[in-house]
Amino acid sequence: MRQLRRQVQRAAKVPGRLAEEIARATSLAQGIWAEARAREDVAAFLPTLTEVVALKREEAAALAGGGDPYDALVDDHEPGMTGAAIAAMFSAMRPRLVALREKVLGAPAPKGVTGTFGQDAQLALSRELATVFGYDWSRGRIDLAVHPFSSGSGHDVRITTRVSDTDPFNCLYSTIHEVGHAAYEQGIDSGYALTPIGQGASMGVHESQSRTYENQLGRSRAFTGWLYGRMREVFGEFGIADADAFYRAVNRVHPGYIRTEADEVQYNLHVMLRFDLERALIRGTLEVADLEEAWNTRFRADFGVAVDRPSNGMLQDVHWSCGLFGYFPTYTLGNVYAGCLMQALRADVPDLDERLARGDPSAATGWLRDKLQRHGALYEPRDLVRRACGFEPTEGPLLDYLEAKFGAIYGV
Ligand code: ZN
Repeated sequence: MRQLRRQVQRAAKVPGRLAEEIARATSLAQGIWAEARAREDVAAFLPTLTEVVALKREEAAALAGGGDPYDALVDDHEPGMTGAAIAAMFSAMRPRLVALREKVLGAPAPKGVTGTFGQDAQLALSRELATVFGYDWSRGRIDLAVHPFSSGSGHDVRITTRVSDTDPFNCLYSTIHEVGHAAYEQGIDSGYALTPIGQGASMGVHESQSRTYENQLGRSRAFTGWLYGRMREVFGEFGIADADAFYRAVNRVHPGYIRTEADEVQYNLHVMLRFDLERALIRGTLEVADLEEAWNTRFRADFGVAVDRPSNGMLQDVHWSCGLFGYFPTYTLGNVYAGCLMQALRADVPDLDERLARGDPSAATGWLRDKLQRHGALYEPRDLVRRACGFEPTEGPLLDYLEAKFGAIYGV
């Protein structure tokens, strides 16, 4: 009833005319964005983005009913969360993340893989990993796409992955990430199917599952030890001497402009940049005409380098053209939840690393299914994570995990 009430009230607050205009404008804007990005032409995107922002501000005001308009948009993706709570969390995270990034990037970079990796072999290994992480093939399939994603729920949960000849981790870890999303949907109590709670609780909780599978489990020292052995069997020699060097290669921290390619240390800084800018856009304290300059100034301040072209800057993400404001912070919220869940999981499964070293994450994925996934959207997102962890979720466990992991890898 709570879910239905939310959906009905949301629909009733937005005039039909406005809902139509948003649907029309964002449909057109996605194509215009793709062309502008390909041509590195910010000016070509600004008029349509200006229209989308104006419409989303109008929608946010209608939804907020006098409250904070940005909060109303966040609520679409993360029920119960507010801009102020996110801002407070981000300010607590930012100094520790910046300090860690500076220490890590000041240390010698680990060696990466060399050579080329056949597409068929990569896909075969990625299918093996999907199975290992509990993907139910009787209720889904994996295909190739430009951008990996997961889609569907219940009895039809499909994912896509992609292949790079020189970077096998792109395929393997994209697959594990999307399997995290898919396994969540597949793990929901079948009695909830086709009801409002037969789906993930929020975007943040969804991302907590995919991130745990990909990073906390898939990029752990224990699991990468097993993966190194499998990759040697499949690909032969690829320039990495041993399992320790492989672990460092998998967790390499590298400077870069692109959020989706960012490592665990820097990813959240990319999100924080977008959060501050989009919140200012919706509040009307930043104009779309000034967005590129604001982005580039902030990027230089946060990452220490100048943006070299718009596709590496404000044109890199599709979200704003789709009208998705209030969505970006859920990525970091997912990481924060993943940090909390992993702390609780490790306490409950003391021999986790021994199992992961055998290539067996089933104790972890089973714990997540039992504690969190099976409930679907029965509980509010934060309440769900609190119930699973046994404590109030905070950014502390994620930051402790990142500092311990990357401090050890880089000797800083
Ligand atoms: Zn994801």
